[in-house]
Amino acid sequence: MALTQKEQQRYKRHLMLPQVDEAGQEKIKNSRVLIVGAGGLGSPVAMELCCAGVGTIGLVDFDVVDVSNLQRQLLYTENSVGKSKVQQAKERLKSMNSDIKVICIEDKLDKSNATEIFEKYDIIVDATDNFDVRYIISDTSVKLGKPHVYGAIYEFYGQVAVLGGDGPCLRCLNPEPPKQGEIVEAKDVGVFGAIPGVIGSLQACEVLKLIIGAGRTLKGRMIFIDMLNMTFDEVEIPKYPKCSCCGKGEK
Ligand SMILES: [Zn+2]
Repeated sequence: MALTQKEQQRYKRHLMLPQVDEAGQEKIKNSRVLIVGAGGLGSPVAMELCCAGVGTIGLVDFDVVDVSNLQRQLLYTENSVGKSKVQQAKERLKSMNSDIKVICIEDKLDKSNATEIFEKYDIIVDATDNFDVRYIISDTSVKLGKPHVYGAIYEFYGQVAVLGGDGPCLRCLNPEPPKQGEIVEAKDVGVFGAIPGVIGSLQACEVLKLIIGAGRTLKGRMIFIDMLNMTFDEVEIPKYPKCSCCGKGEK
């Protein structure tokens, strides 16, 4: 689908970039991105992709908005408290860009539904705070050959990487998720206000670069940000040949 005249106006500042141009904006328009988690990370990811003109955004979350979410979950207002996150998010996103399609998946992602949900999208965004769901996202993305943009936050710290596709996966980094009791649950961890905004925007940036094929993405690399001391570090994530998911396994 080509751009309409209205869209050419709307995305003018994108069209001015040779890396995007009209061809790139058309790719953005025709792309389908799934965001798992409509909370702290999902909010900026969804808003950035919506403004950038991603044609179809899928949102997976089964939660309702809690008053304690408002400190960092930018999609929601005081009127959203007690209401479905994905429905509130859809309303907000449609008010920002009525041309895009927002699909609400008001469900818990698990092994039984992940493949069916993921199949309809080009890129998967991990914006969850649950380790088991992160591994389901990674395993399903590898199985379907789709890239997945990983993001995580903790107190003043954040991480971003591009996994899946033909690159390394989460199991190359950590073969198994931590067991229950080994880690503090997300709801019991503090998060500094602006952290999800930074990490979510970086995830959105990587999604857009994957769509238009510009620059160097975080494929095979992870960025660690310490926002208390404002330092950025990068580590390489090599693909593990014996990875139980994307490699040959231990045998
Ligand atoms: Zn792997």
